[in-house]
Amino acid sequence: MTLKLQRALPASLQVLNELANDIRWSWNHAGDQLWRSIDPDSWQSLKNPYAILQTTPSSRFKQLAEDPEFLKRLQWLLSDRERYLNRQGWYQQQHGEAPLQQVAYFCMEYGLGEALPLYAGGLGILAGDYLKAASDLGVPVVALGLLFDQGYFRQTLDSDGWQQALYPNCDTASLPISPVLAESGEWLQVAVELPGRHLLLRLWQVQVGHIRLYLLDSNHPQNSVADQGICNQLYPAETEIRFIQQLALGVGGWRALRALDLPVDICHLNEAHCALVILERVREVMQQRSLDFATALCLVRAGNILTTHTAVAAAFDHFPLTMVEKYFSVYAQQFSLTPHSLMAPGIDHDKTDKPFFSPITLALNGCIAVNAVSQSHRGVMQEMLSSRYPRWPLEDIPVSKITNGVHVPSWDSAWADQLWTEAAGKDRWLGDLSGLQQAIDRQSDNSLWAFKCEERADLIHYVRQRYAKALIQRGASEQAISAANYVLDPNVLTLGFARRFTDYKRPDLLLKDKQRLARLLCNRGRPVQIIVAGKAHPQDHQGKLLIQEWVAFSQWPALKDRCVFLPDYDIALAQELVQGVDIWINTPRSRWEACGTSGMKVLANGGLNISQWDGWWAEAWQPDYGWAIGDLEGKPGPQSDKKEAQQLYHRLETEVIPAFYQRDTEGLPRQWLQRIRASMAALAPAYSSNRMVREYVDRLYIDSAKRFYSRGKNTECLLSLVEWQRVLDTHWSEIRWGKQSLVEREGGFDIEVQIYLGDVPAQWVRVELYAEQPTEKITLQKKAAMVGSVGGAIYQASVKTERPSWHYTPRIIGWHQEAVVPLECRHILWKD
Ligand SMILES: *Cc1c(COP(=O)(O)O)cnc(C)c1O
Repeated sequence: MTLKLQRALPASLQVLNELANDIRWSWNHAGDQLWRSIDPDSWQSLKNPYAILQTTPSSRFKQLAEDPEFLKRLQWLLSDRERYLNRQGWYQQQHGEAPLQQVAYFCMEYGLGEALPLYAGGLGILAGDYLKAASDLGVPVVALGLLFDQGYFRQTLDSDGWQQALYPNCDTASLPISPVLAESGEWLQVAVELPGRHLLLRLWQVQVGHIRLYLLDSNHPQNSVADQGICNQLYPAETEIRFIQQLALGVGGWRALRALDLPVDICHLNEAHCALVILERVREVMQQRSLDFATALCLVRAGNILTTHTAVAAAFDHFPLTMVEKYFSVYAQQFSLTPHSLMAPGIDHDKTDKPFFSPITLALNGCIAVNAVSQSHRGVMQEMLSSRYPRWPLEDIPVSKITNGVHVPSWDSAWADQLWTEAAGKDRWLGDLSGLQQAIDRQSDNSLWAFKCEERADLIHYVRQRYAKALIQRGASEQAISAANYVLDPNVLTLGFARRFTDYKRPDLLLKDKQRLARLLCNRGRPVQIIVAGKAHPQDHQGKLLIQEWVAFSQWPALKDRCVFLPDYDIALAQELVQGVDIWINTPRSRWEACGTSGMKVLANGGLNISQWDGWWAEAWQPDYGWAIGDLEGKPGPQSDKKEAQQLYHRLETEVIPAFYQRDTEGLPRQWLQRIRASMAALAPAYSSNRMVREYVDRLYIDSAKRFYSRGKNTECLLSLVEWQRVLDTHWSEIRWGKQSLVEREGGFDIEVQIYLGDVPAQWVRVELYAEQPTEKITLQKKAAMVGSVGGAIYQASVKTERPSWHYTPRIIGWHQEAVVPLECRHILWKD
């Protein structure tokens, strides 16, 4: 039995259903031609094979079933798929024996392609790119998310350039998803307790190459009408609905894994919206192993990892305690806890010391590793968490970084695919990336320039069509609509600027001096054109004003052919833009952008970046690769916007534009091409999701799985960890310093300190010397107990160093061989 329409096709084409079901078509250019040949218009506008199968008349399929070319291509594609699914992936080769069964990846949104629009922006697209790369590498991952009826809003503009929000329904019938059936044939569902009722969630699946993404759907006929609508929209404004969505994702998600009987050791929380999965895991462990809450949490923690993409504390959810208490009223009984104690690991306080429930706090308490998504974001997070780790030096605050990356095969153009294939083969993104750099370094100027120009021409063709459609929608005059066919020029330096229109992204930075920008665009000898796109959050009035400002600017008569604002920035538009532009511009206010990924999408396509020195660009930028603005301190001052706008104009006028138009006798911009080559060769592999996923595996997943199993197997050790935490929490205040003596000598010093530990066993603390810049940590050894004292001991070290002894400060921290410190024990005592 199937619950979803399967197109009846001639026998030889029946396999098309199977191909359409695996959205690997969204990144496998090899299939493009096949789908296009069935229905070119539908392919062009929807890029959704699933929809093509549904809407193409049977007569066309009859024809194709007789078409030897088509059948040959289909056969080839099937064997390509076979090969992809059966090959030994990077993971099997590198880590086949690792003690990791499966990672469950949790995220509120997924941007896998425009055919499945379950995303709002960067976070979802990153999650989509992660899944695709994990499939390419053969990493054992299963993903969990929600099925939204409407996803995020779609944008149109009225005749005043004012953003209108539309909420079209996603039609499950034409989404590339299928229901998950239980063995006995019924639709698989899970239930989550709500006050006085259950929320039933049906399961759908999306096949992403090797990987399954399971989507939970509240549209169950047995739910009340109100509850059916819980997954109506992504990030609803109503706090209560947001919370129920998080319950559905976290608690429902874990129950879905159980209903599917999938083994999971690591949960990867991509942002904290799914943090409630921690509680559900704890509940299960408590019941299965008869452990108390603290012990179960200590075990489960080892199997959870948190990635945060947020750079602003206010962007994390705050839920009122009374509301959460209500939702935990039944759930808490399963833990034999009061709702209030169940909330405890997620309670945080605002500036007025008022408590609230915070998913990020729950995640910080329930994960063994926390990572930021760029080096600069790591610093921002460490500062943000400094009040959680009082008296700890910033650099000790346990946040690591794994810089985001993009899934290159999803963002590269057909031209780029061809060039990279010739240089480095078809399987270039499936394993480790060594050798790619040299392959691109060998590309000739001619081939690079030809490919970049083809891409630019394609983009302009696309923009004209999309722009004309938008004008029709806006009710523009016929004259304006036909003029759309002539906007932009394929020989002109093309800038792209597309992102969420929100204050910190500073979409108006380029507009700070409109006359200057207009002069720059209209320069007869060295013209420039710019394509702009972006949505503002429906509640963000300021953002909508900024859109209007760009639309108005693009309508200056002199700029009609030089500046286009395209509505409804989405994955499809992003793909065209990043493939065709020469320059990608990104101008967020310093320290506000966690990473930024859009600029990475141009790399493989031979686009260059001019961006704020922040996020990923602060790591990647070198003069050979592109241009940076902002100051290298990265601390925004009151004049920053104005200053950085000047800097941006200046760079464009004196460096970017001249470099593009500096041509040799053959018409080639040699210096520009050198930059393209360097940026493609060095940066495209480094900022790919292939590299990112391998880092997650190598640095976090496998180690965490080991720790998770070791805590699970060794109950004695687990109990000692919990006891260690309890003893330190209770007795830390008893620890104090006694006398210290220090003897300077040639090439170092000898130090002895007396310490009174009270009831804290000596093996549960570490006494060390700490020095900053550069950081040094030297462990002191216990020399002797102090006669007559309780828990008194003398610690000593003989330090070899060139630094003066006052660089070093003694400190006491908690220590346990199975623990991660300070993540699991934040006590610290400095000698003053
Ligand atoms: C890549 C992408 C984003 C995220 O880009 P940022 O650099 O974070 O602005 C947002 N929306 C779409 C459609 C994208 O393709």
